[in-house]
Amino acid sequence: METSTEGAAAAVRPASLSPSRAGDFMQCPLLYRFRVIDKLPEKPSEAATRGTLVHAVLERLFDAPASERTAPRAKSLIPGQWDRLRETRPELTELFADDPEGERMARWLSDAEKLVERWFTLEDPTRLEPAERELFVQAELASGLKLRGIIDRVDVAPSGDVRIVDYKTGKAPRPEYAEGALFQMKFYALVVWRLKGVVPRRLQLVYLGSGDVITYDPVVADLERVERKLLALWEAIELATATGEWRPRPTKLCGWCDHQAVCPEFGGTPPPYPLPVRAPGSAEGAQGRMGPG
Ligand code: SF4
Repeated sequence: METSTEGAAAAVRPASLSPSRAGDFMQCPLLYRFRVIDKLPEKPSEAATRGTLVHAVLERLFDAPASERTAPRAKSLIPGQWDRLRETRPELTELFADDPEGERMARWLSDAEKLVERWFTLEDPTRLEPAERELFVQAELASGLKLRGIIDRVDVAPSGDVRIVDYKTGKAPRPEYAEGALFQMKFYALVVWRLKGVVPRRLQLVYLGSGDVITYDPVVADLERVERKLLALWEAIELATATGEWRPRPTKLCGWCDHQAVCPEFGGTPPPYPLPVRAPGSAEGAQGRMGPG
């Protein structure tokens, strides 16, 4: 699971694409710019941090022998993993700075426990032996585009079939939006296919917030389609990078955007563009038309 909370740093040209950042560009090109090029800091959120914590717990649980991977054991890992998270990301202490009695944090931890417990109704970790956990993957396409990401879990069956699993701490999307959720999984499947020459047999999204599991069995044509889509997306990103034309695309998701103060849609002014630009020309219309799928 990726976050974009790093502090402001020197601007660099985008060099690779991850599912999260591809999703940012599809949602709003200006948001992509703020996160990837300007690297504007973002406030940690309770929901995202809870997601990171739950992911860490589910990952660490597999350190235990299969028979000991129980819900109580998983829940007992929460306090230690929360301490560890705060040590590695001191900015997270901000989250509960206004909660001196610790009541809000206690509720937040209890919500994390519920998510961990729900996992046991969806999968049985005593019967799983993941081949990989939190696997960083990176592959370069023939065009030179680098794709990267972190896969929560990779299972390999005795037959050699590969299953890619991703945990989501939110609720499953309505069926008409499932394609957007699967985009990330197809992205990973493409990377695995390019790296290992094997098309994963199954993509599995585990929604701990609602207790749903969405699966999809990809075929080569799916992955080729995703590859074409990513190449088109990257072309649009390169064009915007070169011209400095990053258009805002307001949607209801703006409510979760940390950058309204510098967004023209909300009366703000973006910081000066930190990269050299060339005169805009054929850029017209190249942005803002892409959606997942
Ligand atoms: S507030 Fe909305 S339109 Fe503006 S940058 Fe954020 S997501 Fe884009």
